Amino acid sequence: MNQPANAMEIFTQLEKSNCRECGEKTCLAFAAAVFQARKRISQCTRVDPGLVRRYENTTAYVTQEGPGELYMENLKQELSQIDLPEAAGRIGAEYDGRILTLHMLGKRFGIDTDGKFMTDIHINPNVATPFLEYVVHSKGIDPTGTWVSFRELREGRSFSYPFFQKRCELVLKNIADSYTGLFGDLVELFSASKVPAQFESDVSVILYPLPKVPIMICYWMEEEGMDSTLNLFFDSSADDNLPEGSLFALCVGMALMFEKISHNHRIK
Ligand code: SF4
Repeated sequence: MNQPANAMEIFTQLEKSNCRECGEKTCLAFAAAVFQARKRISQCTRVDPGLVRRYENTTAYVTQEGPGELYMENLKQELSQIDLPEAAGRIGAEYDGRILTLHMLGKRFGIDTDGKFMTDIHINPNVATPFLEYVVHSKGIDPTGTWVSFRELREGRSFSYPFFQKRCELVLKNIADSYTGLFGDLVELFSASKVPAQFESDVSVILYPLPKVPIMICYWMEEEGMDSTLNLFFDSSADDNLPEGSLFALCVGMALMFEKISHNHRIK
């Protein structure tokens, strides 16, 4: 594991094509964002996988598995300094004097004052970090009921949409295409609500990965030679309740979780 001394050290190892696929205007701006822990090195679509491994755990988000441990530790430090009863009221959680608990996808997910997780679901870093970000930094804005696409959010404007699509929407679309029980399972296992079809989709469900961060999945089936489509929609308040990078990580974490479930069920 190596600690980059500065942004230039990262920059010298990038492609330097300024292709903008990472959402930054230049490779140099991207290197600075990685060094400042605002972006994951793996968000460069042309990065050498060896570079990702090399900087593992040195920046906020560095691996395909999710945010680095260092970043998690920093968040836990911040957590130890905040007023947990106030945070619980702000974000729609409960606090019993020792453990702050909220519902993620219908499951209890808690953390105690020592930073230890207590949960009914498998902890993957792409889910655990947004949980911490939400507890520490969420403004606690109530959902507005207005659904917007990822690209309409502030976070979406600073990310490459093709990258979001590849890591989240396409993964979920492939599951929905081959696993007929997906939406039923989301309702059954993760407390999703089936809602009247939105945007002329065939299926629409709303999930609550965090109490004030609903996500709507809309799926259009294959029809007359046209491929199926799946899009995620977010409440317009999402940016205020999760800081930049966390919404993306949360969607990646959900996609990984649902992919695992569909494999376990082995339904084609
Ligand atoms: S995606 Fe990679 S190569 Fe393209 S601009 Fe960003 S850092 Fe440079």
